[in-house]
Amino acid sequence: MKIQKSFEDETKGALYVVPTPIGNLEDITYRALNILRSADLIAAEDTRNTKKLLNHFEIPTSLISYHDHNKLAREDQLLDRIDNGELIALVSDAGMPAISDPGYEIVQAAIDRNQRVVVLPGANAALCGLVGSGLPAGEFYFYGFLPRKKKDKAEELNRLKRVRASLLFYESPYRIKDTLKAIHEQLGIRRVTIARELTKRFEEYVRGTSEELISWAEENEIRGEFVIVVEGQNDGAEDDEDSVWWEDLTIVEHVDHYIVEKGLSNKEAVKQAAVDRSIPKRDVYQHYHIK
Ligand code: SAM
Repeated sequence: MKIQKSFEDETKGALYVVPTPIGNLEDITYRALNILRSADLIAAEDTRNTKKLLNHFEIPTSLISYHDHNKLAREDQLLDRIDNGELIALVSDAGMPAISDPGYEIVQAAIDRNQRVVVLPGANAALCGLVGSGLPAGEFYFYGFLPRKKKDKAEELNRLKRVRASLLFYESPYRIKDTLKAIHEQLGIRRVTIARELTKRFEEYVRGTSEELISWAEENEIRGEFVIVVEGQNDGAEDDEDSVWWEDLTIVEHVDHYIVEKGLSNKEAVKQAAVDRSIPKRDVYQHYHIK
């Protein structure tokens, strides 16, 4: 067990984790600016990118790179400086370091050395997207980027199928269409929100069902940065892996559930029941039409 009292002895060095804006420069906090100004060194994912931020705020602090390709080699160098009483600020390109960005490893290594790790609150795309999505924010599951390969993506989504919390993904504009399709195929019809270009001039929320969002992605030119928020599983299924909420329903009751409770069209409801039961749509149609 380790106990950290962050401000008991401020003569000691520290690792400050400093979030930076995800678009709008006004989202940097006073405290973040003060720490960046007073730090002995700023470890940045991309020094050229952070240099622009520092120039904007007229901060002269020196920079050193700390990114996915050199993070292990850099670690000791940075932590030795903290042991010598220096204050190192860690930033990523945007938002909170360590959240789909480098940072976790050095935080862990600093803790191993009993160093102070002080995290500043600030901009983060996932939380902003979650709150703006209008989907339940009480419980959420942040995933980050899904795997790129179709099969791996499907496997991961299948693993998340029973999660009741809202699901948060990051995605690139090049893969958004495929990812929405995979979400629809693996999770069925759910409410989904795409939060695009948050805090920027072209900020946009697209809120609808997974099917509607796929059509939107097919009809529009996809640009910018995205958070995808997916409604959690909410069909009353038990957490028990082997039990499914519809197992006591007939096929007809199952389809009616989607029509009456979820407001789906007959066609959508049949399709969803077929997905749930892993049976062909035509089998569900047959049962439904002879009812
Ligand atoms: N550390 C960052 C954070 O705290 O949000 C996330 C870094 S991750 C490498 C970058 C991804 O975050 C983007 O591909 C996009 O999915 C999401 N993202 C970042 N800025 C965004 C914005 N302004 N609007 C929507 N999504 C954003």
